[in-house]
Order: sequence, then structure tokens, then C-alpha cells
Amino acid sequence: MTEESKPRIGVYVCHCGGNISDYVDVAEVAKKIGEDADVVVSKDLMFDCSDASQNEMIEDIRAKNLDRIVCAACSPKLHELTFRGTVKRGGLNPYMYYHANIREQASWAHEADKKGATEKAIAHVKAAVAYVSLAEPLERPRIESTRAVLVIGGGVAGVRAALDLSDMGIQVFLVEKARNLGGHVSELDSVYPYGRSGPEIVESLVGEIRGRENVTVFTDAEVVSYNGYLGQFEAKIKVARQQGKDENIEVKVASVIVATGFDSYRPRKGEYGYGVVKGVVTLPELEELQRRTVAGSLEVEGRKINEVAFVYCVGSRQKEAPPSETEQTLKTNRYCSRFCCNAAVNESIVLGKKHAGVTSYHLYRDMRTYGRNELMYEEAARQGSIFIRFDEDNLPSVYEKDGRCGVTVKSALLQNQPVELVVDLVVLVTGMVPRTNEGLNGILPLPIGSDGFYREIHQKLRPVETNISGLLISGTSQGPKDIRETLASASAASAKAASFALKRELELEPFIATVDPAACKLSQNCIKECPYEAIEVREGKAWVNTAKCKGCGACVAVCPTEAIQLRGLRNAQVMAMIEAMAR
Ligand SMILES: Cc1cc2nc3c(=O)[nH]c(=O)nc-3n(C[C@H](O)[C@H](O)[C@H](O)COP(=O)(O)OP(=O)(O)OC[C@H]3O[C@@H](n4cnc5c(N)ncnc54)[C@H](O)[C@@H]3O)c2cc1C
Repeated sequence: MTEESKPRIGVYVCHCGGNISDYVDVAEVAKKIGEDADVVVSKDLMFDCSDASQNEMIEDIRAKNLDRIVCAACSPKLHELTFRGTVKRGGLNPYMYYHANIREQASWAHEADKKGATEKAIAHVKAAVAYVSLAEPLERPRIESTRAVLVIGGGVAGVRAALDLSDMGIQVFLVEKARNLGGHVSELDSVYPYGRSGPEIVESLVGEIRGRENVTVFTDAEVVSYNGYLGQFEAKIKVARQQGKDENIEVKVASVIVATGFDSYRPRKGEYGYGVVKGVVTLPELEELQRRTVAGSLEVEGRKINEVAFVYCVGSRQKEAPPSETEQTLKTNRYCSRFCCNAAVNESIVLGKKHAGVTSYHLYRDMRTYGRNELMYEEAARQGSIFIRFDEDNLPSVYEKDGRCGVTVKSALLQNQPVELVVDLVVLVTGMVPRTNEGLNGILPLPIGSDGFYREIHQKLRPVETNISGLLISGTSQGPKDIRETLASASAASAKAASFALKRELELEPFIATVDPAACKLSQNCIKECPYEAIEVREGKAWVNTAKCKGCGACVAVCPTEAIQLRGLRNAQVMAMIEAMAR
């Protein structure tokens, strides 16, 4: 290597105001690293991230002709982007930078051993220097984007998302497999809070969509094929035409929002007497009944309803089934369905108002009328509802009693003494379960969580994104939610989708796989291993689709000829880091 081509590295070791320097001898780290022939500057600074320190780095880059930088500081999650920006302002490519984490990895992890923490910090910074010595300038790939979004599912989530996108001037294709928009909400008699009817809520949303030129609604329709990547998805929609042939329509969109909703838990035959004891219904069935009933005339199986028992947590928060049971009963839903305590309490208030004289008993495990919904609980209690708590080891039993429904519950407040109720109607407060949706799941690479709902990348930080860029999820397709929460997540998904659709060009991360065609012997191992379907064969060699690749490195590990490598993390860089640490 000639003098001119030798790397000229600047290293800045941070005290982090004592967070690091209390346990790591930062001056010693800077001194040791400064002994490396390629390191031109090695300093310890009180705060690398302060404006003064960043300006000092920029001055060093210019004055000492540095061509790559290492900061040894806190977690890269905090300040890697900050220092890439510093390096860029100094006139270097932002990827001629490496961030060594000596706070979480050295000082905080080894508070009781300053010598050991210092040695570990030195090893980390040596590895960083080895990496950056082999760094190459990287460019962020750019792809064109289409000003359109596909929304799958026309419940309240899908309709809300379509309206938000339309408001932002984006073309929307809304696909609903049923004849009408609205999903489950159109089946609800009285919706908490405020008791508006479900169809009324749906109409206020759907009414807004009508006449919008930039929203195309396909009902009786399903997505039958999908291809492409962020910015350039292509989907084929099959629309069933009444008295006629199906029509296939192709659309091109920047991103896809999946809002396909949930199913209600269906109790097994005999579960709390369901399907066996007359007068046992589910909450959705009671909603349906209420919609068809006028005030004062509530009857089930020809029996006037005066007393009702609601049994909570049916199909939610289930205990692990014993291994001897059948496969069907082994499947348990451990999660809470969120909406059902509120919906059941609301329903009992409505019953009391609509059919004077009806008494409601609530057999519950925990009453989760969270937030403002607590006011409904108070109203139900004032109205005369009786609340009886049981614990998960003492589930109520339901049976026929003198032509009515007998319910025995061990009350937790009475030290598990059994209480028998004889009522006219038992309402099983059933929770939400994931929709099966096999057709769609076979077409879109949607990640499914252990509970069966679609899974986001990160519940708190990226709540509507999946690990496929541009493929977003919203509403109850990703887990139980009430309408308010559903609409909030739909708006979040539409904001994210708009961030893709409104740009002509999208910038991607540069850390992606790249193939050396001369070394590729087409083992195709990479194609099999890639979880993102980002690799295909072109001209007899493996070829990486830049827009689909997420830089996970699964392909690198299985390539027998090392023809495929990650930009910004080449095999030689990894080996150099390991060797530097081991030295
Ligand atoms: C009994 C009951 C009472 C409730 N009461 C209340 C209440 O009082 N207040 C409240 O806030 N919430 C209540 N909820 C919850 C409320 O129903 C949900 O929050 C809401 O329906 C979620 O809307 P969504 O759009 O996510 O899903 P959904 O309503 O399930 O809509 C999804 C839509 O996607 C369509 N779809 C599915 N798969 C496909 C596909 N492959 N292609 C195209 N389209 C597809 C479906 O046909 C459907 O139209 C209640 C729920 C139940 C069961």
C-alpha cells in the first residue's frame, strides 16, 4: 500500500460525562489506539456529540486530511446518524464511519472492573479501526415511486385509510371481498361510547368516499396476485360482476395497506352450554337479535327475557389446555380481546334502557373498562347490574334448569362459594380471533405472529409496518382493537403509506447484498434462503433486487464461493474485526 492510498483514520473516544470514563480509562484507550499506524488522530473528548466536539472532528478531517472516522461512545442507536452527519459535513462519504459502543458494551457492563472494561473497550475500538480501514464510500439506492396505494379490506379501518390517503391527493384502490363496505361495525346495534348504531357510523364514513375521484372501490373483489416492491407494487384484483363474467383489473401502487379485520370467537359445542342449552348466545348474536327487536319485546326461543347473565372472557385469556385434549381444544387464545368488557357492559345498559325490567348479571374475571369506558361501568352499576367476579380456576358452568338457563359461579368475593343464578338468557362475551384468510396469506408475504394476527416490526416503534418495506397492516388484522383504536391505526398506516406515495423517488439503505458475477457458480442457495424473495437468476447468475433486499445477510452465509456479500459489511471486514479483537 502506498503512502497516498493508506487510510487516514480519526478516532474520538467519548467520556459521556462520566458514563463511560467513570469505569473505562478513556485516555488509555485513545493512547493505545493512537499507536496504530493508520490512526492519524486519536483523542478523548468529554462529549463526542456536543457541537464543539463535532466541529473539532470536522476541523481535523480538513486539517489532517482524514478520510475515515471512528467514534467510541454510546449505543449506535443514539448517535450513529449524528456522526454520519458530522462526517458528511466534513466532506466525507457518511459511510466512511464506524461507531464503537463502549458504553453499553464496556463501561455499563463491567462497572466493578475498570481494568477489564478498559481492555474490552480497547478491543472494540481496534475492531472498529479494522472495519473502517476497509470501508468504501456507499450510495443510497433510489427507486421510483407511484402516487397510488392499494387498501385491502373495506371495514372501518380500510375506509378510514382510504379517506386519509384521498385527502392527501393520493389515488386509492380499495378492495372489499363482501358486497358492502363497513365490516363488523355494520352489524352492531349500539356502539360504545355514545351508543350510535353501527350502520350509522359506517354510513358517515362511506358517505364521504362516494364521489371522490381519486378513490376506486371494488366490492365483491379480492386480490389474486401480487408482485413488485416498495414504490412499484403490482396487484391483480378479481371483481365478481353480478350476471356476468369476473373481471380482472391490474393496479400499480407505491404501497399496500392490509385492513382485513378479525373473526369473532365461535364457542365449541357445549362450551358454557353453547349449542346445547337453549338460550345461550354469543355477544355478536345478541347484537343481531337487538337489531331485529323493538323496545320491550326481547324474546329468545319464545321466552320473554327478564334476566340475563353475561359470561366474560370466552375465547380470550384462555388457560393452557391439558395435553390430553383434542387438537382443536389445545388451541388457546392467551391474549385479552380489549373491546369485549366495554361492549358487554354497553350492551347491558342498552338492554336495560330498551327493555324495562331486564336485570343483568356480569360474571367476569377482571373488569377492563379502561379509560373513559369506566363511566359505562358506573352507569351499568347504577342501573342495577350485578357484578360477580370468578377466577380462572373456577370457570362458571351453564346448564338447563326448569326450562331456563342455570349458571353456577364460584364468587371470588365470597371465598369461592358457589352462587346459582337461573336466568332467561346467557350471553357468552366472545373475543376476537384472527381471520383465516388463506387466499390472501398465500399471495402476500404477510408475517403472522404466534397469536395468528399479522405482526408489525415493532409494537412501539414501528406499529404499522411489516418487515416487507411498503407492506403495512392496520386495524384488527393486527390484533384486537375497538373502533377508536382501529381508526387511529388506520390513520397511522395511511400516513406511512403517503410517505412512500408522495415522493417521486425513494431512498433506501445502502447495506444490501451484491453479487460478483465472476465468482457466482449459481448454487441458488441464496435464492432458497432469502426471506424477502429478493434474489433471482438473471443471465445465468444470482441477481439481487435492491428494493427488496433488507441486508439480513442470510444469503452471504450460504454462498459456497463468497460471490454474494453485503455492501458495508463485506466478509473481509468481518474477518478483520475478529482478528483485531483477537490480537
Ligand atoms: C359483538 C361486537 C361488538 C362490538 N362493539 C363495539 C363497540 O361498541 N365499540 C367499539 O369501538 N368497537 C366495538 N367492536 C369492535 C369493532 O367491531 C372493531 O373494532 C372493528 O370492526 C374493526 O374494524 P376493521 O376494519 O379492523 O375490521 P372488520 O370490521 O373485520 O373489517 C374488515 C373488512 O375486511 C374485509 N376482508 C377480509 N378479508 C379480505 C380480503 N382477503 N380481501 C378483501 N377484503 C377482505 C372484510 O370483509 C371486512 O369488511 C365490537 C365487536 C364485536 C364483535
